[in-house]
Parts: sequence; structure tokens; C-alpha cells
Amino acid sequence: MFTPDRQKSISPDEAMARLKAGNERFTASKSIHCDLMAQVKQTADNQSPYSAIVGCIDSRVPPELVFDQRIGDVFCARVAGAIVNTDIVGSLEYSTKVAGAKAIVVLGHNFCGAIKSAVDGVKLGNITALLKNFQPALATLSKADGHRDSHNDALVQKVAEASARLTAASLTKRSPIIKALVDAKQLKIAAAMHDITTGKVTWLS
Ligand SMILES: [Zn+2]
Repeated sequence: MFTPDRQKSISPDEAMARLKAGNERFTASKSIHCDLMAQVKQTADNQSPYSAIVGCIDSRVPPELVFDQRIGDVFCARVAGAIVNTDIVGSLEYSTKVAGAKAIVVLGHNFCGAIKSAVDGVKLGNITALLKNFQPALATLSKADGHRDSHNDALVQKVAEASARLTAASLTKRSPIIKALVDAKQLKIAAAMHDITTGKVTWLS
């Protein structure tokens, strides 16, 4: 388990490497972190997670499982389409500046319902406001991307990747606290895509 000392001693590069290795175990059906009740007991008194992950609510993309991490290893913020808002940026500031995590991963995925809805311009209840978060990613589209609807798989994938990249890049702009940690090399931020058909995570940055 991650103790405060162990968390402190891990570098941002090592934090990213742990997540990559975990996804390799997961896709090889070699997950090793399955004794959950033992982990509950180990972490009962405190937590020292080494990474923070922003992911989608999609039922097929649970970050702890796809990165083969233990209870107590990672902070997770999940919201449709893996966007960030003030509350999530605040949660990431807490995860890193206050609680010591060394890596932030914005984890998008293919065939994302939120991205598809944004592509189709869905208007429904509070979803309308949520989908406004994808405007910057939608703005990366050009005529060459073809017809703008959710049946255009390549276009949906392009928007999903753009959204993960732009969201990751936005964190240092939205948060002077996160920027200072990155500048001091105490934190790394990456964007990644999870393939729901293979379980494999591809790193975009
Ligand atoms: Zn999704």
C-alpha cells in the first residue's frame, strides 16, 4: 500500500509508469490487486494515493480496474465525458497539492455516449449544459472530418481524443496551484484513451 513516505518518494514519471504497467496487467488478464477486503483494512486509517484520474461515468471504464490499482492508490473523479469544472479542478487541487498525488490522467474512451450526444447537439434537461463542455473539442472539427453525427465513428473518436487532450491541457490554465506543481516537476499531467473493446489504454501525451 501507499504510505505517506512511499507516496512522497515516488516521482511523477514513476506514477505514470505504474498506471501503464497496471493497464498492461489488466489487458493480459493478470490483474494482481484483487484482495479487496485486505486493502480496506490496510487503508482504514489513512490514504496516500499517488495518482488522480478524471474519467467518464460509463460503466465500462472503471479506472481502478482498468489500471489494476488497489483501494487507496488513486483518486477518481468521474463525470460524463471526463470533463472538468470548478468542483473537479478543486478536487484535483486537493488530490495533488493537499494529498500529494504525483500524476493526473484525463481518461477519455471510445464510443462515449456523452461525446456522441455532444456531436448530435442533444438538448435534454441538465445534459444540455453538460454538453457545452465539449464545444472546444467540437471546434477542432473541419469539413474533412465528414458528416457531423454520432454514427460517424472516426469523427466521434476525434472529438473524444481532442476533449481528453484539451481537458488535460486546461488544468494548468484553470489552476495556478496545479501549474506551480507541474512547473516544479512535482506533478505530471497526461491525457489517455481507454478502448472499451480491448481494455487497452493509449496515451495521448
Ligand atoms: Zn463516456
